[in-house]
Amino acid sequence: DVVTRFAPSPTGYLHIGGARTALFNWLYARGRGGKFLLRIEDTDRARSTQAATDAILKGLSWLGLDHDGEVVSQAARADRHAEVAREMLAAGHAFKCFSTQEEIEAFRETARAEGHSTLFRSPWRDADPATHPDAPYVIRLKAPQEGETVIPDAVQGNVKIGNDQLDDMILLRSDGTPVYMLAVVVDDHDMGVTHVIRGDDHLNNAARQMQIYLAMGWPVPVYAHIPLIHGPDGKKLSKRHGAVGLEEYQVMGYPSAGMRNYLARLGWSHCDDEVFSDEDAKAWFDLDGIGRSPARLDFKKLDNISGQQIARAEDAALLHEIDAFLEAAEKNPLTERQRDGLARAMYCLKDRAKTLLELLEKAHFVLAEPYPVPDEKAQKALDPVSQGILSELTPQLHNASWSRDALEAVATAVAEAHGLKFGKLAGPLRAALAGRTTCPSVFDMMLVLGRDETIARLERAAS
Ligand code: GLU
Repeated sequence: DVVTRFAPSPTGYLHIGGARTALFNWLYARGRGGKFLLRIEDTDRARSTQAATDAILKGLSWLGLDHDGEVVSQAARADRHAEVAREMLAAGHAFKCFSTQEEIEAFRETARAEGHSTLFRSPWRDADPATHPDAPYVIRLKAPQEGETVIPDAVQGNVKIGNDQLDDMILLRSDGTPVYMLAVVVDDHDMGVTHVIRGDDHLNNAARQMQIYLAMGWPVPVYAHIPLIHGPDGKKLSKRHGAVGLEEYQVMGYPSAGMRNYLARLGWSHCDDEVFSDEDAKAWFDLDGIGRSPARLDFKKLDNISGQQIARAEDAALLHEIDAFLEAAEKNPLTERQRDGLARAMYCLKDRAKTLLELLEKAHFVLAEPYPVPDEKAQKALDPVSQGILSELTPQLHNASWSRDALEAVATAVAEAHGLKFGKLAGPLRAALAGRTTCPSVFDMMLVLGRDETIARLERAAS
């Protein structure tokens, strides 16, 4: 059975590259009835913080990437990592190295001077244990020195590394603490991870990590090293390209469904499909569809996908997304009245909004409390002539049947009585009902607001 994992280091915010890695692992597992596990790689005590772990958990939860089982702390498993190092020692796949820092430096000096590889070759690798001093030591892996290591990678193909490039890496430090490389392998093995999908900045580590699998006789997981995300200019993504933290996208108003869809398309493709549901993504996601060249961040495409996901979303799901957005953006939560208004208006709000922020701007006519005050532009539309026409319209609305067709007929008749097309009346009506020009159509607003509120707003605007 498929088991994937996301293994972030809790040293900052959740980078969108990390979020995409998590998404790929989640999709792969969820599409195959497998498990998606979460491991916090907190062994670097100086750089790891609880706040960063919290931010990662929050980001994953917003993105809808639920994980199976408990969150694993790598640091808490240090004893187990050390145990494996000792097992390797006992089995002859590792050795005690007593070389001091000075001796290692001296080795490198000489190698440099003589033009040899500066990879440290310990004199203790083949030493007789009887000659071991009573001194501090590290445990090093006995890495192969000839031939090559082939990493079969589902994205990169067979990646070959000459074994002469590998040193006898340290597994356990002299203070008994395990190194990161060992921790990753032991954890992945113990967690039953079958597929390791991660950024290709870990490809070099894979060659070293494989040595540990081979020494322990453990099955090597399927590797899929995905190219990192680049900015729109084709350069490695960095702060200067704009937002790199997942949370920033939430604060900009992208809905999580849009972000999931967009991130899935960032480096992976399925035919010409751009906009798809989670169910489709789970069914379609495969390692074959991951591209070999870096995907570029494309904000226009993000806007487009986000807008289409908003348009397809269930109203209840959108309201839920809006609550989360308001909280993330540190804005006031919706009042009951606003929530009701939004729920009633949702059908005419979700069509053309690229973000939740745009949707809320368009929703001003139901959100403004107690009613929208005309902005400058709206004020201009409410000139005396228009006010006169509005006050003629109002009495007619008392008896009109409250349907789109009936309202349109009434408004058109009043406009025509003044020799105007209805379009000329639309501006003043928008100003009266929404207080601004970004809003749904006049008739949608009337239908949502209802007769009493519509009439109250027109009367206020006409006076
Ligand atoms: N902790 C590593 C990182 O955040 C990931 C390690 C892995 O996926 O094997 O880059």
